[in-house]
Amino acid sequence: MHKHQNVQVSDTRDDAMKTEAGIQKLWQASRLIAVMIVRIKENSWLAKLSAKQLGSKKVAVVVGKTIHLFNTSREEFLKDEKWVCHELAHVQQYQKHGMVKFLAMYLWESYKKGYRMNRYELEAKSQERNPEIMLNYIIA
Ligand SMILES: [Zn+2]
Repeated sequence: MHKHQNVQVSDTRDDAMKTEAGIQKLWQASRLIAVMIVRIKENSWLAKLSAKQLGSKKVAVVVGKTIHLFNTSREEFLKDEKWVCHELAHVQQYQKHGMVKFLAMYLWESYKKGYRMNRYELEAKSQERNPEIMLNYIIA
């Protein structure tokens, strides 16, 4: 009886691993954290607006779980590890504070201290050399 049960358990596990959802479940369970899917949007009008405002050419802007790009490609962005870590830090800030609250606080910081001294930018900058942050996300 015991033996039979064991076989059933391992069969179920094998079946689960055959499906993508199963793999993700096991992966998440093994790391005890949720992996979040982040999307990239190229040629974003929102990033274009920010590029004008910041006076820079290549721009990435995060809104929620989407990284908006302008004047750069998905490929070029993903090659730049520090840049990816920086933007993922912003995704994390959205997760931590929630969309509306984070946007309000970010804008308020920018208004008070300017873009460079904005504490959320400083925090993102400090994450640029922390590639471990990438373990928490899957960039779709
Ligand atoms: Zn930033």
